[in-house]
Parts: sequence; structure tokens; C-alpha cells
Amino acid sequence: MEIAQHLQSAMQAERISDVRKACAEFLAAASDFYGVANCGMRVLAARPLRVRENWTTELFGDYSSETMLIRVWMRTAVRKEVTSFGTFLSTLCHEFCHHLDFQKFGLRDSWHTRGFYERAAALYHCARGTPLKKLFWVPVAGGRWRIDWPRTNRAA
Ligand SMILES: [Zn+2]
Repeated sequence: MEIAQHLQSAMQAERISDVRKACAEFLAAASDFYGVANCGMRVLAARPLRVRENWTTELFGDYSSETMLIRVWMRTAVRKEVTSFGTFLSTLCHEFCHHLDFQKFGLRDSWHTRGFYERAAALYHCARGTPLKKLFWVPVAGGRWRIDWPRTNRAA
């Protein structure tokens, strides 16, 4: 997808206004594709001091179902390094999937289920035009699962 390339070059140039524009294009296209209302979006230079104290907060982004707003940030909190393009795009896809859970599937909550991660991964690979990887899983406490990244990456 062309939009992902716009985003990548904007990130490399560290031009936040261009990053913002590319993110907006991406989210508008994704909302259109899934037939849901577009969500709001903020691109921040660095991780905000106050992040929402709930489960939708990730390392590089968050989503509020009340305001339908995605926030993503370009720099890590501790070392202030620029987030890699892959991580940034994958965060954007992840947060958009929370939006989808509420808007398309009408869920009252959006959980990090295996299905959720599968949808986020599908969107990510579709955006980058890369082949979908088979995800490998490890069980964690409470009957939940996380992606086994070393194994998933080895298999690719
Ligand atoms: Zn999440």
C-alpha cells in the first residue's frame, strides 16, 4: 500500500506533520474498507506523561472508545529513541483494531484475544504488502495467550 510508504519516509525524515498526514490517510482508508466511522488521531512527539490507565494503553499508543481517538507517539519514554517504522505501524493497526471491536463488532469491551491479534496482524501485513505470517502462541496466566515472537519470526 502506498500509504505505508508515505508513512515510512515521513518517519525517516522525522517530519511529524507528514507522519500525521500519512496516519490520517491510513486510518481513513482502513475505516472506509471496514465500513466504520473514521476515528480521530493524534501523533505525539513523545509518550505523554499521563497515559490512560486502562488496558488499551500500549507502549507506543492508546485508544479511547469514548472519544474514538487513537494516540500514537514517535519516541520511546525512556531513551527518547524514534520508534521504528514497523513498530509504529503495528501500533497504529493495533489501536485501529480496538476501534473496530467497538464500531464494527459492537463489542462493549475490546480484549487482547488471539482473534484480536490475528486481525491486527492481517491489517499490518495488508498495509505493508507483506505476506501474512503464521502466528505462534504461548499460554500465559489466566487462560490468556501471547504471541511467541521468536518462534513466529523464525518461521517466517
Ligand atoms: Zn491494545
